[in-house]
This record gives sequence, C-alpha cells and structure tokens, in this order.
Amino acid sequence: MPSHEHSSSHHGRHEGGRTVFPDLLPLDRALPQILEQIPVLEDEEKPIVDALGQVLAEDVVSTENVPPQANSAMDGFAVRSADTPGSLRVIADQAAGHVTDKAVEPGTAIRIMTGAVMPAGADAVVPVEDTDGGRGGTVNIGVQTPPMANVREAGEDVRAGGCVLPKGTALSAGMIGVLASIGRGRVRVYRRPVVAFMASGDELVGVDEPLGPGKIRNSNSYTLLCQIQQAGGIPRDLGVARDTLEDIRAHIAEGLKADLFITSAGVSVGDFDYVKQVLEEHGELRLWRIAIRPGKPVAFGVFDGTPVISLPGNPVSSMVCFEIFVRPAIAKMMGQPDFRHPMLDVRVLDEVDNRGGRRSFLRAIVSRQDGEYVARLTGPQGSGILTSMARANALLDIPAEMARVDAGSVVRAMLLSPVAG
Ligand code: AMP
Ligand code: MG
Repeated sequence: MPSHEHSSSHHGRHEGGRTVFPDLLPLDRALPQILEQIPVLEDEEKPIVDALGQVLAEDVVSTENVPPQANSAMDGFAVRSADTPGSLRVIADQAAGHVTDKAVEPGTAIRIMTGAVMPAGADAVVPVEDTDGGRGGTVNIGVQTPPMANVREAGEDVRAGGCVLPKGTALSAGMIGVLASIGRGRVRVYRRPVVAFMASGDELVGVDEPLGPGKIRNSNSYTLLCQIQQAGGIPRDLGVARDTLEDIRAHIAEGLKADLFITSAGVSVGDFDYVKQVLEEHGELRLWRIAIRPGKPVAFGVFDGTPVISLPGNPVSSMVCFEIFVRPAIAKMMGQPDFRHPMLDVRVLDEVDNRGGRRSFLRAIVSRQDGEYVARLTGPQGSGILTSMARANALLDIPAEMARVDAGSVVRAMLLSPVAG
C-alpha cells in the first residue's frame, strides 16, 4: 500500500529548521533506498581495448562465424577419412593463412598446418605423429581416422546471427577477445562515473608534510581514491576541506560537479561537523544514521542533482562503508544494478562480541583449512586500526541479533580479495 510505503521510508522530519531522523535505519532498508536514487549513466561507444570492466549497453550479435571456415586443429595431413589407413600421395602444402587451389582426390593428401583452411575434398586431418612424416611425396598412415577428426568446424565457437554477449555483461579479458574474434572493434558500454572525493578535518596533514602538534596524516584520500578506482570509477581528488563553513562550502560546490560525490568525516554530531549542514544548503538529506558498525553516521542525499554519500571519518569506517554503499552505487551507475560482493559461509575461529544491537562488519582473514573456509579476526577491531583493513581479505557480516558469536560458529563473509589455500 502506498501510504504504508511512505511511512516506512526514512525521510527525516523537519523540526525547528533541522531535519530529525528518528532512529537508526537497518542496512537492508537503507541500501535499496540509496540505490533507487542512483542513476544508470548514459552509454558511450568506445574501442574494445578501453572497455575492460565496463558493462555492455547493447546485445552483441555476431555477423561472422568463428572460425570463419573449417580449419585444421593439428599439424598433419588433410585426407579423405575413407582413405585411412593407407598410403597417400602428398599433392600440396597448406599453411595457415594461405589457400591452395588443389583439392584432395581419392588416394591423395595435402600437408596441412594448424589453423590452415581445410582443402576441398578432405574431411579429416591425420596428425603428423600418426604418420611416417610423408617426406618424399608419399605419406603412410597407420590408423583409421574418423570423419571430422582434428577439424575445427566453421562457426563452432561463434555462429553468425547469434547473440554472443548480452546487454548488462561486465566485460572481461576473455569477452573482449571474443569481440575481437567477431570483428567488433568498438562497443557500446555505460560510461564510468567521475567520482569526487573530499576529506575533511583541521587535524589532517599530507603524507609529505611535517606532523605538527595535534595533527594526523590524511589516509582516507588514499584509501578512498583507490577504492573508487577499483570499483571502476574515475577518481577526482578534491583534497582536504578544513573545518570551516567557508572551506567546506567551496569543496562541496566543486564535488557536486561530479557524477557521484563522496565525503569523509564531519557528519557526526561534533561541534565542527559542518558537512551535513552545508550539503543541506543544496537540497534535502534523504537518509542519515544507519544501524551498522562501523558506519553509523553515513548520510545520503541528492544535491543539485548529484548523489552524495557522506562516509564517517574513521579510516576503517570509511573503507568499510565504501564497500557497503559506494561500490554498489558505482556499479549501478556503470550498468550493474545488482552488484554484490562474493559471499562465503565461513567458520569463525575466534569468539566475537557483538553487543550493541547493530549489524557489524568485522575485519577478518579467510583461508581454507582442512577442506573448509575458516576466518580469523585481524586483531583489534577499533575503527581507527587501519592495519586491520590492510590485513583483511573479508568482512564478517554479523547480524544485529547475534550479541555473541561462539568460536566454531558459521557466519557470512563478504570477500574483498582472493582467499588463499
Ligand atoms: P570525524 O568523523 O570528523 O569525527 O572523524 C572521525 C575520526 O576519523 C577522527 O579521529 C579523525 O581524526 C579521523 N579522520 C577523519 N578524516 C580522516 C582522514 N582523511 N584520514 C585519516 N583519519 C581521518
Ligand atoms: Mg572531524
């Protein structure tokens, strides 16, 4: 019912000029609400070599057979199957890329190389190993060779007229090879989004700058710009906004020019957390505060037409929330609305404390041990322990209801990188 739909949405209420969000929103409601408001970008036509990882915006139908003509799968002799075994006169040589005008007549053979077109009259290839080599004009074949043996048929890989790759396919190296094999040098794919990233905070200094009193290094710009790139976006670094309304306004104005704008820090409830406030000068915040750990203060809205996802400042939280919210958003923009990380059931070897009533994403190392997938926590799970993200290959997804997970229990793991073993 529409009225019910409405009351279950997380639009804030306006109270005394501020938007009030009554409670923490569960992730399985928050994420669909965010993704619903993320557009799929326009498509573009581009050379296939530049399209790796992009998603087809068209069904690709082949106009050619692959291979175009029947050809030999081996170096050997093109023969009439009915003539084997036997002693045959060698009447010509057929190399790959060349076509003889001779035909195989009864009692004759044509020496043929791998990939060379089958000559007229021949219906099988005898590999050179099964012959005496045929030097001196005659080849002796000791084995019976069935029809079509060692022959690659025309169109056996791809048939002309068939759809080889449907719209919505994310292009892999193998698929780009298939496009090349059917003579498609250009394809239509959804374009990659330009994704701007802004760090914020007076405490931040750059990697090459001296650490003054009270300062820490900005790592979020590095982690997040790399994650944007990994997700297929075109990263745009907006640097660091200082904790003043003026500087945050200038950075946000720039960020809203991108296809998607990601910010970190300044969205909690601290005195200088101006990011949310400045965003609200450009439109309505659609959603704020989600029942996950880490990542409670994540905020989302569409401002001046640009979707903005504001991530928490803590280095682990921003990375984890990128995977949860931003990665699927970038995937949708690129034409894959149903992106999901690979998930795996794993046996946790450590006891996990999950008091606090929120769904938690814990940094873990998943490996294969004695025929099953097991997970160990990376160590302390504080949202400032960035080395935990450097070591983790997975996030354990612990449901809110599970206040405690006993060692030996099976939980879901979201894989971030390949599993060893
Ligand atoms: P905030 O969301 O502003 O309260 O920040 C939360 C924590 O994250 C604070 O300890 C900040 O110092 C830290 N932090 C914020 N931005 C960054 C950044 N770009 N790199 C590393 N740490 C950060
Ligand atoms: Mg701050």
